[in-house]
Amino acid sequence: MSKTTFDYDVAIIGYGPTGVMTANYLGSFGIKTLVLERDKDVYFRARAVTVDGTTLRCMQALGLDEEAKKDMDVTTALRWKTYKGFEFLRWSPADDSPWGHIDSNMIFQPNLERTLRAGVDRYTKNVDIKFGYAFSSLTQDPESVTVKAVSDTGADVEYRVKYVVGADGGSSAVRGGLGIANEGKTKPRTWIVIDSKVKKTWPERELLTFWSDPVRPVVDIPLPGEHHRWEIPLGDDEKKEDFDSPEAVWRLLGAMDVTPDQVDIEHFAFYNHHIRYAQRWRDGRVVLIGDAAHLMPPWAGQGMQSGIRDAANVAWKLRYILQNGVSDRLLDSYQPERQPHVVKVTASSVALGNLIETKAGLPTVMRNFMLPIISKSAGFKKGLKVKPDYDGGFFGVAPTKKVAVGKMVPQPNVTDSVGKESKLDSFLGSDFCVVGINIDPRAVMTDAQQAAWALYAPRYLTILAKGSTATSADQIVDSDGVLVPWFTQYGVKTAVLRPDKYVAATNNTSLDMARVWK
Ligand SMILES: Cc1cc2nc3c(=O)[nH]c(=O)nc-3n(C[C@H](O)[C@H](O)[C@H](O)COP(=O)(O)OP(=O)(O)OC[C@H]3O[C@@H](n4cnc5c(N)ncnc54)[C@H](O)[C@@H]3O)c2cc1C
Repeated sequence: MSKTTFDYDVAIIGYGPTGVMTANYLGSFGIKTLVLERDKDVYFRARAVTVDGTTLRCMQALGLDEEAKKDMDVTTALRWKTYKGFEFLRWSPADDSPWGHIDSNMIFQPNLERTLRAGVDRYTKNVDIKFGYAFSSLTQDPESVTVKAVSDTGADVEYRVKYVVGADGGSSAVRGGLGIANEGKTKPRTWIVIDSKVKKTWPERELLTFWSDPVRPVVDIPLPGEHHRWEIPLGDDEKKEDFDSPEAVWRLLGAMDVTPDQVDIEHFAFYNHHIRYAQRWRDGRVVLIGDAAHLMPPWAGQGMQSGIRDAANVAWKLRYILQNGVSDRLLDSYQPERQPHVVKVTASSVALGNLIETKAGLPTVMRNFMLPIISKSAGFKKGLKVKPDYDGGFFGVAPTKKVAVGKMVPQPNVTDSVGKESKLDSFLGSDFCVVGINIDPRAVMTDAQQAAWALYAPRYLTILAKGSTATSADQIVDSDGVLVPWFTQYGVKTAVLRPDKYVAATNNTSLDMARVWK
């Protein structure tokens, strides 16, 4: 007889960076969660090498940013050099990030994943993690999903859950089981990625360097904890087999004057880069996140970070569906929000990759004269970053450049009524917040609007201009002088902020909630 009770509210398949972030969010919301992970330990290969300020902001929401930063190095500088030694670009990542965290940090992915996993250990009451369990299939009906898996001892297990998050990576069995195509292309060029442990350092090792060369370009990456990485494309006539030995790897390193005195090779692997998107990211009660939903080349350092943003996006939606009785149509807003953003960061990654791979190197005029000038401009630094803004989804009106709706609110320091100064998000927490700029937001909302948003149980906060004094717990002062000007430039007096810090609605567009999100 089929079950009528639920074993868990949510099953997360895969415990890589996107799965573990989802487990942290759901754990912190008190949602009964199962994690099925095929492997026994963190994947040993360091793949992602960098995180930005918005990703750290997601970790901050989980109380894990400071712990994670202990294993990170702030990126010193990025430079572009020819093999002959001519440096035609040097760029220090901006430290004036609006997100409350430095915008470019080098990471060692296995260590970051360990920190995130330790974070989930805080939620043993409501999160069960089963290592060595490979997801095998699922079936769903209007009320539930039945998930089947096989343990590493060969035991078949089955769980009935309300929702499934497929975070099982690029070869996703969840995606495959649902018959969802992974559309796009795989680039023909093969890259060798060499990871090492440094024994004896060398001058300027700490600089992330693109070596431009028509024959053998190299991406040269310093990683925290005395790790160092080289990513090198194979030529048109070269095969993986030509390089698949320590001797061949040493020949590649030797050409860059790197010797066995300086590093131990930890491992090397071959990759072809993909540009692929799952045809749909939601199928009934199942959502795909991270590499299961999209794959991009690594050059913009955004693959894992995009997965973390997916986790942040899906987790609060599941929370309001499961705990506040919001319709699960809310999950329909996930792909329209996340996919256009992923497409933009993929395009920037592809453009950077084309520059690195270009066989002739950069045109001399561009390289020697234009890039050094352009790279010093503020616009260049900003242009390298894709803004986190959303183009559509869970919003009162369609986001445009001219409205605050769809934009991520900056994170300056603010001061509360007892004079304590902290980053904005520590006051906003993980709830919906309705904020009024120098005014009680309820004074700007109709009763009907307040009744509609009550479904999301928002907190009401007043943000006072710099120089004011907060006199009650629902007031904060914009002590850095950032928030009031930010809202004012869009003509906003009152705004609804989502848990992921996006502006959902404003008084000068509409504070009504669209019927579909109720
Ligand atoms: C060379 C390289 C450099 C990169 N550099 C960057 C960078 O600088 N910045 C960045 O943001 N990203 C970077 N990336 C991309 C980044 O590593 C990935 O996007 C990220 O690891 C994806 O995370 P995920 O959790 O979605 O998937 P994964 O990390 O693949 O994790 C999936 C998990 O699911 C488990 N699993 C799989 N199948 C099953 C199953 N059937 N049952 C149970 N469990 C299962 C796996 O064991 C694994 O633990 C890089 C990638 C490469 C290859």
